[in-house]
Parts: sequence; structure tokens; C-alpha cells
Amino acid sequence: MTATIIDGKAFAAELRARVAAQVTKLTEGQGIVPGLAVVLVGEDPASQVYVRAKGKQTGEAGMRSFEHRLDETVSEAALLELVDRLNGDPAVHGILVQLPLPGHVDADKVMARINPAKDVDGFHISNVGLLGTGQKAMVPCTPLGCLMMLRAHHGDLSGLEAVVLGRSNIVGKPMAQLLLGDSCTVTVAHSRTRELPAVLRRADIVVAAVGRPGMVRGDWLKPGATLIDVGINRIAKPDGGTRLVGDADFESCSAVAGAITPVPGGVGPMTIACLLANTLTACCRQNGLPEPV
Ligand code: NDP
Repeated sequence: MTATIIDGKAFAAELRARVAAQVTKLTEGQGIVPGLAVVLVGEDPASQVYVRAKGKQTGEAGMRSFEHRLDETVSEAALLELVDRLNGDPAVHGILVQLPLPGHVDADKVMARINPAKDVDGFHISNVGLLGTGQKAMVPCTPLGCLMMLRAHHGDLSGLEAVVLGRSNIVGKPMAQLLLGDSCTVTVAHSRTRELPAVLRRADIVVAAVGRPGMVRGDWLKPGATLIDVGINRIAKPDGGTRLVGDADFESCSAVAGAITPVPGGVGPMTIACLLANTLTACCRQNGLPEPV
């Protein structure tokens, strides 16, 4: 079997176009321009790449982008003060504080300070609780993108066996909640899970979010399963350069799976597109307008 490639780039382009069309309608019809503020602390190279991409795509979607770059040494108090200011700014509908934050800053405290209505990352405990209880929440972008691709590929997910590999607060746990919300039978696997290959082999859907290059092998999969590979791992190439690989061994997995997301070009592009979608959603909710579709 050769797996169908789930083209995250194409899905993301389609979602961005949909968001942009709705932003135009909002701007022309109501005079409202959705605004996203991104806060970047320090010089982490990967974070800088993400923040640049976010700023560019926000502008292309017709939204306002506000970038706040702070020195690595910024105090927690100054960061909280900035969050307060953004919470109170009516031009800002979404706030994203890029993680990781430097060690002297309590990231949980910063996240908790963001107005949950503007929490487009969906990390505030209010949004975590809303999602966990099946209520209207801001949903973390990466798992939201995974769910959209799964729904587009499968249609109804009800009754399918799903295994989420990884239990982080930003990917694994919210992914499990979303799949449960779509009536999958969900198992969350992690570093203490016993007989991991056997657990994965039960699954119609595997979402791998472990941060271990090529860990999931083809013989861990049920033939025909759908594999969503969230991992982004940079590994050395023999020529001295580096390349990105996922948490799945693409070659062996694509020979067994029914469908698979590539790395790069799978989950990554959908994450930023979902951030734009969340900003639009936050803007509509804050202005008492119907939810965007
Ligand atoms: P974390 O490091 O926070 O979590 C990793 C999870 O994997 C943990 O739950 C850990 O288990 C589990 N794990 C680690 N090793 C093993 C193992 N040998 N066997 C079974 N489980 C294991 O990672 P994140 O969730 O933040 O990210 C996961 C991956 O997704 C990374 O590659 C990251 O770069 C990528 N990512 C991609 C995004 C995108 O936009 N495409 C966005 C966010 C992340 P335990 O809890 O027991 O320690």
C-alpha cells in the first residue's frame, strides 16, 4: 500500500484564503480589522522564524499585525504589563506570547494574564477547561489544524480508534479532547506507555507528537491507518547541513498507512493558518458577530 499524502500546505492555503475573504467582508461591511499581537522574548532562532511567518501571513490575510520584540533580560513584571496593555487595546483581538520564555519568567503566570477571549493560542486555563467540557473555547492551533485535516480526509470520525502519542499541554492533551469531542475512542500514549507498538496498531488514527525523529515505524501501524505527524525535528545530514523530519519514519509508514502528513508540508503550515482563523474568530466574538465558517 502507498499512503495518500495529506497536503497540509494546500489545506492551509485554502483556509488562509477563506479567512482572508471573511476579513475583507468584515473590514468592508463593519469597518473592523482583526488584529493579532505577537510577543517575542529573546533571540531563539526557531521562534524568530515562526514570528516572522506569522506577521507576514497575518498581513496577507488583511489583518493587522503588532509585533513586540523584547530583550531576553526583560522582567516578568514588564512582560505582564505589556500583556495588560494588549488586553485593553481594542485594536488587538488576539494575543500570542511565543514560547519558550526565558527561565526567569513564569510562563504559566504570563499565559494566565492573557484575556481568555484574546487567547488565540488556547493555552489559558479557562480555554483548556472550556475545551475539556465541550464548550465554546479558543482551541490550540496545532491540534485544531490536525482535526481539520482529519475531518476533511475521513468525514465523520465517530467511533474510530485514535491514539495520540504525546501528552503535552500544547498538542497531545488538546488533540485528545478534540478527538473525543468528535466521538473517537481515544488513547493517549506517552513515555511510560507499555507495549507502544501494540497500542498504536489498534488505531485507525495516529497523531504523533513526541519530538523524536522517525520514532513511529511502519510495522507499528494498522494497515490503512491515518497518520498525522506533528513532529518537527532538525537532524544532521551527511553533507553537514540539516533537514526537518517528523516523528514518523516516513518511508516505512507511508508503505503501511492509508494516509499520512509529510514533514515539512503537513501540520506545520496548518498551525499558522489556524492562528489566523482563531484571530478572526476572536474578533467576531469580541464584536458580538456570528462565528466565521
Ligand atoms: P513535549 O516534549 O512537550 O511532549 C512530548 C511528549 O512525547 C510527552 O508527552 C512525552 O511523554 C512523549 N514522549 C517522549 N518520548 C517518548 C517515547 N520514547 N515514547 C513515548 N512517548 C514519548 O513536545 P510537544 O508536544 O511540544 O511537541 C511534540 C513535537 O511536535 C515536537 O517535535 C515539536 O517540535 C512538534 N510541534 C510541532 C508543531 C507544529 O506546528 N507542527 C507545534 C508544536 C509542536 P511524557 O509526558 O511521559 O514525558
